[in-house]
Order: sequence, then structure tokens, then C-alpha cells
Amino acid sequence: MAKTIPESGYKAIFNNISAAILLIDTDAPYYTILDVNEAYLKATNSNRETLVGKSVFGAFPANPSDEEAKNIEMTIFSFEQAITNKTPHTMSDYRYDIPVRGTDQFEERYWTTTNTPVLDAYGKVAYFIHSPANVTELIKLREKEIASVEALKNHRQHLYSTFMQAPVGIAIFRGADYVVDLINPSLCTIYSKTPEEMMGRSVFDVLPHTKGQGFDKLLHQVRLTGMPFKGQGYPASLMRNGELQTVYFDFVYEPFREVDGTISGVIAVATEVTEQITAKQLIEDAEERTRLAVDAVGLGTYDLNLETGEMITTKIFANIFGFDEPVPRADYVSVFHADDRGLRDLAHKEAAVSGKLFYEARVIWPDRSIHWARVEGKTYYDANKKPVRILGTLLDITEQKQAKEDQQKLMALLADSEQLLRNITTAAPTGLWMSDETGDITYVNQTWMDWTGLGYEENLARGWTNAIVPEDRRKVRDKFLSDLTGRTLYEAEFRINHVDGSMHWCVATGSPQYRNDGTFTGYIGACVDITEQKNLQQQKDDFIGIASHELKTPVTSIKAYTQVLERMLLKKGEAREAGMINKMDGQLNRLTSLIGDLLDVTKINSGKLQFNDRDFDFNDLVKELIEDLQRTTDKHVLVENLVPTGIVHGDKERIGQVITNLITNAIKYSPQADKIIIHTSVKNNEVSLCVQDFGIGIAPDKLEKVFEQFYRVSGDMQHTFPGLGLGLYISSEIIKREGGRIWVSSKHGEGSTFCFALPLKK
Ligand code: ATP
Ligand code: MG
Repeated sequence: MAKTIPESGYKAIFNNISAAILLIDTDAPYYTILDVNEAYLKATNSNRETLVGKSVFGAFPANPSDEEAKNIEMTIFSFEQAITNKTPHTMSDYRYDIPVRGTDQFEERYWTTTNTPVLDAYGKVAYFIHSPANVTELIKLREKEIASVEALKNHRQHLYSTFMQAPVGIAIFRGADYVVDLINPSLCTIYSKTPEEMMGRSVFDVLPHTKGQGFDKLLHQVRLTGMPFKGQGYPASLMRNGELQTVYFDFVYEPFREVDGTISGVIAVATEVTEQITAKQLIEDAEERTRLAVDAVGLGTYDLNLETGEMITTKIFANIFGFDEPVPRADYVSVFHADDRGLRDLAHKEAAVSGKLFYEARVIWPDRSIHWARVEGKTYYDANKKPVRILGTLLDITEQKQAKEDQQKLMALLADSEQLLRNITTAAPTGLWMSDETGDITYVNQTWMDWTGLGYEENLARGWTNAIVPEDRRKVRDKFLSDLTGRTLYEAEFRINHVDGSMHWCVATGSPQYRNDGTFTGYIGACVDITEQKNLQQQKDDFIGIASHELKTPVTSIKAYTQVLERMLLKKGEAREAGMINKMDGQLNRLTSLIGDLLDVTKINSGKLQFNDRDFDFNDLVKELIEDLQRTTDKHVLVENLVPTGIVHGDKERIGQVITNLITNAIKYSPQADKIIIHTSVKNNEVSLCVQDFGIGIAPDKLEKVFEQFYRVSGDMQHTFPGLGLGLYISSEIIKREGGRIWVSSKHGEGSTFCFALPLKK
């Protein structure tokens, strides 16, 4: 027989089950509570009396957590659903706080409540079971989960931004090709690339030049072995601003592990330390330089411990003492020259007090040679002012000492040679002088003083000019000043009065002097007595003058006789004899002109050449002369290339003499040519005449000399040309005296052009 539970049994179950249950009437809008079980009372902290017979909304009013009474609305809706649909209806996860007993506080509670309708025999809803389940724990748990998911999200975000903003470069390289999976801006900056350029590409494709630098090997090693690699101050060549630069890194390569532990790539973290490394190198360089500098000047250094007597020295220190390598202090002390030991001891005593060590002493090397050493040092004291240490340097000053000795010897020698020089300059039969850059005389030698009787001081500055005869003074001074301004070689001829009353001719020369830097410092010059030569020259001039004068008269009368003789012979019809006499007359003309030249020269030299200046038409003169001279040559045509020139004021005969000289020279020195061009022109109130020939020409170095007295170009060609070498000298003197200029241009072997210019009468 089937056992059945008695009616009261259900009541017991109702009260003992753990689910909280409320039985509620369908009497809307009250929804009176019909019954409540123990679990419900417990769950809601309430008691039976306050509930049964009450409206459910009266018993459980809207509580503070439910200000808008959403719970009531929701509950009514659920009740209605359950009643109308006659099926259970569930309200999920709503909050309804319960009062804490004995306080006015509420406790947070979440509920999921099912309202289950109970039907009567007629199928009508008699009442319904309201069964709330406390889901607070569950809800709390869920909230926590959401919060922690949120936190995780935040954490990730945080990590990412940390990664992105990290001041160190970070990247993940994936696979054997080290494809950039992730890279932060810092590392992009280091690589000098944008993130877009780097992401998703093999790092060695983007930075091809890094491949040969060992980074690929390191990455392989880390990826294959899983052992991290740490590099410090690692150099790398990177392209920056279009050029390859060496930069330095501290970096770490870590294997990148998947969740299952397999290594799929490498995490690289890198900081650039170029600046630090460069700074370090700079310091090292500076240290090295100091060391080199100390070595370069050959300074030995030492560190002497005064308490133990121990001394640390450098190799150079040892070398100066004659040792190959540093030796103990006693060994150094032993090689001091016996005469200098006392001095050294004294210096050390002094250093203990003054703090400074200084002495120079001789040391003897193993080969017995003596060397000088200069010892310098600084004393260091302990807290009790006791000297404990000396640090310092050592210098080999042997050469200096020797140089000083040599210098002294040289000075003595110099003094000797100065005396010698003075003797020589005094003994020289030549005046010697020096001037400063302004032309003031700063030195004259004894010879000059002896000549002039002027004392040293009296000669200084312009004083020396007092020795010059008054007529020559101005000329000499002007010449000197103009050479001084032009910094040209100075040369002048003048007369000086000797202290004995005699007058002497001098030729003074001076050459400009310059300092090494090119600044002009003045003149050094000499003054040679040429009185003797002048006298001889005078005698020669006198002789030529007298001789030519004496020759002139007989030649003139011979010439007169020949002319008479020629006419007589012609009358007699003796043409052959007359021809011979005519030739003789020609030679006499030549003799006359030679004598004339000689006479002119003596006149010029004694300043007695007479000029008879008047106005004449230059063109007429030129034409006349050409006509005459054309008759003297059959070979050459004298080509006239003339312009109207106007009136010249001067000595017509003398100027004619010049033109004749130039044309006869042109004829004489162009035996192979057939023409001579005579060309005149007027410019700047000056008339010039040029005689151009196509003859032997003149070598450039001879060009200026042809105007000198008795000058004839020497050379094979000249032997065939007779002459005294006076024509051009006389011509140039005449032109100068008439206020004009004379010049020549020539090409050796091709011909010459002699020109002169004279002022025209205005
Ligand atoms: P003379 O006293 O008879 O004139 P010279 O003709 O030799 O003798 P200069 O007229 O003074 O003397 O000329 C000097 C020198 O210049 C000549 O000896 C000659 O060497 C050179 N000379 C002058 N004129 C010419 C010329 N037209 N072509 C080449 N050489 C010339
Ligand atoms: Mg001549």
C-alpha cells in the first residue's frame, strides 16, 4: 500500500524546506499574505505576526535602495502574469534590501523570485506561491568578476600606454625573419623610422645596413637557445638624416614565449647611450691628450711617499736619470752629481716648509755622460701639517743648459764680429750709410765722417746733406725722396766738400731693406769716391774736344781745296780724276760729321752745347731731310707717312740732326731691306716722329743701352757697321734739352722703330 503524507506533514515540509516561501492571495491590489514559512522569515529578518494577514506591499514597502518603487511595479507585473497566464513567472536579480534587526540600517540583498500560481478544482488561481531566492552572493560574485575583467582591461591599457610612452625602445620581433609585431615610438625614433614603416615588416628589411653588424646573430641565438642577451655600450651604424652614424646602445634581447612555452620571437628593449659613450670617450681622449702632452714635452712624473720613502716614477722619469725602467728611489739618489747633492738636500728641506720643491741638478748616466734635470714638485701634508707626500715632474734640461752656454759663446762671438765689422767699415774706402723708413739717416761709417769732418750725430737725419756742395744738394735730396717713395734702388752722383777743403765727386747707391714680414725698414747704402774717374773723364773730354777742334780747321780747308780741285778737273775734261776727287769729298763729309759728333759730345759733357731756339714748321723740316737723305741711298725707298704737324719752337738744326741720325741708322742697320718708313703723328699737343726699318733689330737687353755714350751693340753683325756710338747719345741729349722724349722698340732680326716726341707750340 502506498504510503501517503498526512495533511499536517505538508505543513511540516512547508516550514522546514530551505526555500523561502510566501503564500499570497490573488486579491489585487492588496495581495494579502496567507502564510509564510520559517526559511522566508529567516531570509527577510521578519516575523510571522508582522506578515500574515497583511498586504504584501504593506509588509514590504519600497525600501531606500528602491526609490522609484520599481520593485513594486515589477512585482505587481509578475503577480499579474502568473495569475493571468496560470504559469510560474520569475523576476530575476533585483535588489531589495532588508532591515538589519535592532538598527535602522538595511542590508544589501539581491533576489530572484518565482511566483507560481496554485489552481483550485475549477481551474481558477486560488493563491500563488511567492518564493524568493537570495542571489546576493551570486550577484556580488558576478560584479566582482566584471570588476576584475574591467581591471584587467585597464591594466592592459595601462601596460600598452606604458609601452607606448616608455622612454626606452621596446619591440617584439616575431619568427625567424624578425617581423616587427609591436614597436614603440622610442625605438622608432632610435631607428629613425615611423611605426608604419616598421610594423609588419622584417626589421632587417627596414634597416638593411644593421644586418652585417651582428644583431641578426644575436637575435638567432636568443630565439633558438631561449637565453636572454644583454649588451652594454654596443655600437651600431644607423642611417640618420641621410647619413650613416655610429650610435651606442644598452639593450636586452629576451625570448618571447607563447602561452605553451614555445619561443616565437624576441623582445628587444634598447636605450641609446651615444651621448654617455661620446662623453666618456671625450674624457678618455682628454686624459690621453694630457698624458701625450706630458710625454711629448718629455716630462717625467713621480709620486714620493715621504713616510715610507717609496717613490712611483714613470718610464720617462727613469730615462732622464739614465735608467731604462723605473728603479727604487735610492738608485735615483745614487746617480746625482756629487757637487749637486747638497743643493738637492737643501731643496727638499725647503719644500717641507714652503710646499714647493724646485731644483736643477746634474745626474750621471751609466755611460758617464752628464745630464741636467729640473725637478719640480708640490708637497702634501697630513692633518697635523706633517709633509707626507710630494707629487711632481722631472724635465731633462741638458739641451737648454747647453743652448744657454752656446748662446753665451755666440754673444761673445757676436761682440767680436761687431768689432770686426766696425773695423772693416772704417777701413773701407767707401762711405756707408743706413736710413730708416722715413729716409732719416741712422748710421754713417767712420770713412764718411773722416771725409766730411761731420761727427756721427751731425750726420743723423738730414744732417749729412750739409756735406754736399750747395748746388747739388737739392738735386740729391729730390732724387733720394722720390726713390724712397717708390722704394726703388737709389743712385745719385754729387760733389761733397772734404774737411781739408777739397771737392770730391761721389756716387751714392742704396738698396731698400725689408723685414721678414715685408715691411720696409729703410735703405742701406754706400758712397764711392769717383773724383779720380771724373778727372780722367774730364781729361778725355778735354782731349777729344781739343783734338776734334784742331782737326776741324784743316779738314774744312782740305774740303774747300777738293771742291776747287774737282771743278778744275771737270773743266779740263778729266772726268775720271774728278770722280775720284768727288769720292774724296764724300769721305771728307763723313770725317766732318764724325768730328762734329765728337765736338758735340764734349760740348754736351761740359754743358756747353748751344741751342738756337726759334719757331719752325716741323713738317717742312722732315720733308727736306727725307729728300736729302733719299739721295744718299739707292737701295732703300724712304716712305713718307706724314700728317700736318704745325709749329715747333726749338733748334731746327739740332732737331734735324736727330732726324738725320735716326734715318742714317735705319739705312745703316738694314742693309738687306728696301724701305724705311717715316711716320709722324700729333697727339696731346705733341708731335712725334718714328723711323721704322726692317733690318737687324736690337736684342731686348741692349735696347736701353743704345742711347748711352760710345755704346755700340757688340756682336758679329756689328763688325761690318762703322761708327763711334755717339749718334743716339747726342740725339737723346738734344731731345731731352728740347723738352721731349726719345724711345725705341725693336725685334731682334726683324727691325727697329726709333721715335721721339716734342711739344708743339700752342
Ligand atoms: P755713330 O756714332 O756713327 O752714329 P753708331 O750708329 O754705331 O755710330 P749710334 O747711332 O749711337 O751709333 O747707335 C748706337 C748703336 O745702336 C749702334 O752701334 C747700333 O748697334 C745700334 N743701332 C742704332 N740704330 C739702330 C737700328 N736702326 N737698327 C739696329 N741697331 C741700331
Ligand atoms: Mg748712328
